[in-house]
Amino acid sequence: MASMNHPNVIRKLPPQVIGKIAAGEVIERPASVVKELVENSLDAAARSVTIEIGRGGLDLVRVSDDGAGISPEDLPLAFERHATSKLLTESDLETVASLGFRGEALPSIAAVAEVEVASRPADAASGAMLRLREGEVVEHGEKGIAPGTVIAVRGLFRRQPARLKFLRSPAAEAAQIAGVVSHYALAYPEVRFVLLVDGRLTLQTPGDADLREAAAGVYGHQVAQALLPLVADAGPVAPPVIVGLIGEPGLSRANRNYITLFINRRWVRSRTLTYAVEEAYHGFLMAGRHPLAILDIRLPANDVDVNVHPSKLEVRLRNEREVFALLQRQVRRTLTQSAPLPSVSATTWAGGPRQPQSAPRSEAAPLAMETASPAPAIEQPRLAPAVPVMRALGQVGMVYIVAEGPEGLYLVDQHAAHERILFERFLDAGSAAVDAQGLLEPVAVELTPRQQVLLTEMAPELSEQGFALEPFGEGTYLVRSVPAVLKDKEVASTLIEFLDALAREEAIADRRQRVAMSLACHAAVRAGQALSQEEMRELLRQLEATENPRHCPHGRPTMIHMSADALAREFRRR
Ligand code: ADP
Ligand code: MG
Repeated sequence: MASMNHPNVIRKLPPQVIGKIAAGEVIERPASVVKELVENSLDAAARSVTIEIGRGGLDLVRVSDDGAGISPEDLPLAFERHATSKLLTESDLETVASLGFRGEALPSIAAVAEVEVASRPADAASGAMLRLREGEVVEHGEKGIAPGTVIAVRGLFRRQPARLKFLRSPAAEAAQIAGVVSHYALAYPEVRFVLLVDGRLTLQTPGDADLREAAAGVYGHQVAQALLPLVADAGPVAPPVIVGLIGEPGLSRANRNYITLFINRRWVRSRTLTYAVEEAYHGFLMAGRHPLAILDIRLPANDVDVNVHPSKLEVRLRNEREVFALLQRQVRRTLTQSAPLPSVSATTWAGGPRQPQSAPRSEAAPLAMETASPAPAIEQPRLAPAVPVMRALGQVGMVYIVAEGPEGLYLVDQHAAHERILFERFLDAGSAAVDAQGLLEPVAVELTPRQQVLLTEMAPELSEQGFALEPFGEGTYLVRSVPAVLKDKEVASTLIEFLDALAREEAIADRRQRVAMSLACHAAVRAGQALSQEEMRELLRQLEATENPRHCPHGRPTMIHMSADALAREFRRR
């Protein structure tokens, strides 16, 4: 840790270093206070960190640690902007190993709350305390405490009513705080964490350096017992190295918040790397379920740029593709080695035949659903009562079409209806001639690793819909044709938006449906688009001809019907 390299002396950063730091308001909500204070405790090499919060952190956030402490003479300096003990020079920025380094957290907190700090280094005879109000020191003196630091933050945003307005309920803020503490507890199993919410013990880890024990403290013992250690590659170990625990296939969750990723023990949000983990579980979990994983990716510090985001949640990796592939391969291998593949019936799997190109063929055991009969449609195959012939009367708010039919009044959602029409048309594309629009000049687009994986994985389905792309090296692809429905749009941005839409539909296992759905959503008329009488008429006519006219492919209704009877009742005509 850098605080080891630079003995615990706080200094003001020189202006040229300040200029290089991604600055930003770091204190947005109570959870940001907790994050900054816990990071300071960890940077001070604490073995035990206790977090107490009152009323979602608005009344109180108190973090106590047994770390290195701050010497009495340095105490006021800790609250000055850009004062830090963790960074001296510009070149230190390249190799930041501590969690904090900007010297901004304490002054930022003190600017929006009342702060009291008491601290004592282990070798100091006694401790000191400091109280600040609106960033100004109002009390400074000696205080007898055990070695370590206690910082209490009270009345957060009391003088910033505009900030308070953006906060959610105390319970929701407390949940966020618990999330933050959980991440640190999982990243630092050698540190003992205690979280008290309004006096109640909410989370506790033993600090015995065993990740499974830390996971038990965060998720409970049952979950902890269903975790598998990640199987590393055979052979000599070279960075990047990934360590951690992943859930057995029997352990799944309804959302992806249980995929916890760290880079050099720093919690990160990475859609790309989360996707790598999820992909590796393909065939092990039911559609719509997500795995649990706690993984730390260890890389040389200069392969990671943590200085891109003020709250340091986003990082830039120099070799993201390599990390992506490694992560996916090791998770996949762990699963295939330690758990038999479940046999999934065609009815529980909304998936068709699939050859995972993402995992090397030799590693993937035959997937049960490859032999299953063709999958049902994503919606429950319902016997949709055909819609009556409707006559468009007009448009409401450029979102709905008002129509009249033999049985009363209909309000049709123009986007949902058009999605339904296009979805069925695209699903049918296999039988019809492909409606592709060749480009006179190929267009080059740059894709992220995740988009490239999607593209490769979905190649047959995409070409079926009229996309023709070829790799052109270094993440660049040449687009030679697009589906005719997209022909009037700007190629590069449309393709990227479409790929993002495709990524979002990842709960849909059937790849043809997934492509058809994303394309339909993308090409359909939007809410807010004015339609001519003729266009409305045509839309209704095409909707009537679909197999399932009452729902969009996501299952939302395409129309609301108010029967003649209901209208009569509302107007008390009977
Ligand atoms: P940064 O962490 O970026 O250096 P902060 O404003 O968070 O900036 O903290 C300023 C300084 O105060 C730190 O560099 C550190 O020297 C000291 N400090 C803050 N919290 C603690 C703590 N819990 N234990 C020991 N020192 C601390
Ligand atoms: Mg800090």
